[in-house]
Amino acid sequence: MQAKRGQLVVVSNRLPFAFRREPSGRWRALPGAGGLVTALLPVLRHRGGTWIGWPGASESMPDLSQELAAASEDAGYALRGVALTAEEVRGFYEGFANEVIWPLFHDLQSLCNFDPGYWQAYCTVNRKFAYVVREASSQEDFIWVHDYHLMNVAAELRRLDVASRIGFFLHIPFPPLDIFLKLPWRMQLLEALLEYDLVGLQTVRDRHNFTQCVRALLKDARIEGRGQVLLATHRGRTTRIGAFPISIDYNAFMRQAASAEVAAGARELHALLPKRKLILGIDRLDYTKGIPLRLKAFQNVLERYPELRERISLIQVVVPSREDIAEYRGLKSEIEQLTGKINGSFARPGGWVPVWYAYRSLSRMELLAYYRAADIALITPLKDGMNLVAKEYCACSIEEDCVLILSEFAGAAVQLAKGALLVNPYDIEGVADAIRLAYQMDAAERRARMRRLRRSVREHDVFWWVDAFLRAAITKDLDAFPIAADHHVVEGVDFGLPV
Ligand code: UDP
Repeated sequence: MQAKRGQLVVVSNRLPFAFRREPSGRWRALPGAGGLVTALLPVLRHRGGTWIGWPGASESMPDLSQELAAASEDAGYALRGVALTAEEVRGFYEGFANEVIWPLFHDLQSLCNFDPGYWQAYCTVNRKFAYVVREASSQEDFIWVHDYHLMNVAAELRRLDVASRIGFFLHIPFPPLDIFLKLPWRMQLLEALLEYDLVGLQTVRDRHNFTQCVRALLKDARIEGRGQVLLATHRGRTTRIGAFPISIDYNAFMRQAASAEVAAGARELHALLPKRKLILGIDRLDYTKGIPLRLKAFQNVLERYPELRERISLIQVVVPSREDIAEYRGLKSEIEQLTGKINGSFARPGGWVPVWYAYRSLSRMELLAYYRAADIALITPLKDGMNLVAKEYCACSIEEDCVLILSEFAGAAVQLAKGALLVNPYDIEGVADAIRLAYQMDAAERRARMRRLRRSVREHDVFWWVDAFLRAAITKDLDAFPIAADHHVVEGVDFGLPV
């Protein structure tokens, strides 16, 4: 008898649709944006399946099943909402996820607020998610849980006797032992992660940090090396642990960047800023993105290399994010003050403006026009799980005549090291020198580097990522790893493992 082919059940904090109340009082589903949605949408559309998440509304939310059903129809897969109260959102999302795990896992422990109530809220909400997953899935399904909001879901599902295969992917970095040790709930969290069948991390460094924590804290755990995927055995369960750098839909970006509309947008930007090189920074408002230090590096290059004044302009786009957290509001003021200071020192009346600052979201077409217009991308996070902007910039650079300056602390640096100019974002003069180097780089070197970068992103695109993760989850023969970079099989992956 053939095993029943299971579906893919994706679980993430947010559904890829946000539900907003219109002035008329009606609720409407708006398709979401962001790295994870971009990554999984093509796969779910192709395979079908279910996506479970918080719809983004609070306790006053009525029953949205009708809106969810309509959105499912448009999306081509089922959507299941997890209703959260406003208090749960405060404790679990704003609290534990964004004030504990986010700063700690980005090595910024001084920004953590280890409020014990946050952990309680995290456990409660993860349990709520687990109930919905149990209801929406069957044993032959493969359940793929995403990111730091939901690290406890497998542990909660095991408590509910769910024996399905469950994978977890952490989109943010995993911190080194010395930092992870600060977490008051370190044991519970590590043990919860080992309830998954597969834990996927962005880079080999993250995987190393994770296994080091397991070794140090769980004395009875055993870790064996088996090629790309390690095995951790703890209390009778074996968890596979691998590094799978997330990526983008390279061909879609490249195609859209080549459109006439985007080309016109890029030309318009250049016409507004003639005879100068455009340097681009695009980030969500977040202290991990290193925006103030980047501005200081830009100021430094103008101070130390006066010949570059009027020859370069920095376009810094900051996408609004988490504005209800005080830290983020403070960061916004700091960025705006620094921008004002640089422009106040260097701008010429009626002429050159060194920093073009925008605090808003861009439409897709605007984003692509910025990517295409920029001669240099300046991406300098203090720490970043991957950084998709860096990969999108490469995909959109269809003329292959530009330079990527990238922080060595972005997960993407591992793959992009050979073509990018890698910098330490804390080294203001080093970043300034890299800007000068990028400005002076000759066309042949720009092209050779960008070609290399684009090849790497093309060969390891989002389909490769999904394929690599799912294969690591289901393959019996772990020695079959590593997966060839050009191996793009999504269909043919059978989630219906023997149960
Ligand atoms: N992005 C967006 N709206 C914008 C600008 C950017 O949705 O106005 C997207 C961008 O295309 C990228 C994502 O936001 O896919 C940012 O991902 P990244 O990994 O660089 O950083 P994150 O914000 O997830 O930390």
